[in-house]
Parts: sequence; structure tokens; C-alpha cells
Amino acid sequence: MGANKKIMKISNRVNKLIIFDFDKTIVNLNVNWRAVRKKLRDFCLSHGLDIDFNFPHPIFESIKKARHIRQDLLDIVKNEEIKAVKKAKPIVGAKEFLEFINKKGIKFIIISNNHSQCIDAALKKFHFPEPEIIKGWDNVELLKPNPQALRRVLEKLKISPEHCLLIGDSNDDLILGKKLGIKTLLINNFNNFKQLKQIIV
Ligand SMILES: [Mg+2]
Repeated sequence: MGANKKIMKISNRVNKLIIFDFDKTIVNLNVNWRAVRKKLRDFCLSHGLDIDFNFPHPIFESIKKARHIRQDLLDIVKNEEIKAVKKAKPIVGAKEFLEFINKKGIKFIIISNNHSQCIDAALKKFHFPEPEIIKGWDNVELLKPNPQALRRVLEKLKISPEHCLLIGDSNDDLILGKKLGIKTLLINNFNNFKQLKQIIV
């Protein structure tokens, strides 16, 4: 099935809610995660803790091991993300697309593994429309692709998965959509917001 046909099929069913990932989906945050990992590791070492922060260890799993300085490490991650907003760039067509669905009365939310304050700051910086809900790593018990947080949001909004569309950029986004039975599209070189705008009627 061609990409356009696939999008067409999805759009016919979306009338309630679009769920967006944040980084590399609507904004390119460009956090230097390698530098952040080194910063976390160095902070731990300065407190006598030898914790592996090398890729591909999930950062938050490593942070959990640093019990008594856990909050300091979380603050480092949060501050680095917020700092990155200064140099962040919006993804082409994202703002227009959000304004477009806003006008159509389609609600949207953001579910991301970035910090909610970083997401909020970037949305304000680029004058994006305000989402119904923002869920960042600081608002959830379990990170994406665990479906718990999104499942709870859908229950709260009383919207069933078949009336949703999930737009992301990563494999985690695909997994999340699959776990909840939500049609999922990835923004990449083949699918972009311009095409999506044309088919949401
Ligand atoms: Mg992403």
C-alpha cells in the first residue's frame, strides 16, 4: 500500500484527537544527549557513585540507581532540555498543521519523554496552539512506549483509540500506538505535515 493511500485510510477515521510526540515530530530540540550523559556520570562520580550512563542504557534507569542524588540528576536532565529550547527549531509545517486541526475542532495532546516545562517553553516560543494536555517524563510513572499514561489520558477524555491518530517519529511511538490500537504515522522524509493537511477533511 502506498504512503498516501495509507494516510487517506487513517484520516477518514480521525475526528476526535491527535496525539503528538514532541521531539523531532513537531520541534527539533537537538539535545546533545551524549554531553548530558557525561554530565550525569561526572556528577555521580563526584559523589562517589560509579554508574554507567553510556548509550544505550536508558538514562532514567541509570538515574534510579543513584538514590540519594536522584533529584539532582533529574534536575540536570530537565535543565539541559530547557536550555536546548534556545536553539530548538520547529519542524517544517508543524505549526500550520496544529493551527489547521485546531480550526477543524480536532483536539490534540502531547505525550513525550521530554520534560513538560521544556515542551511548554518550546510551544510558547514558536507560538504553537495550546494542547489539551501535555505529558512529559515528569508527569508519568512509566515512560513511552509503556502505554499506561496515554491509556489514562484517553479514559479521562472519554475518547476511544479508534478515533485517534498518533503522530511521532520513532519506533517507541509506533510501539505505543500499536499497544493501544491507535493508528500511527511517523513524520519523515516521505510523510510530512503538508501531505497530512491535505487529507484531513
Ligand atoms: Mg520523537
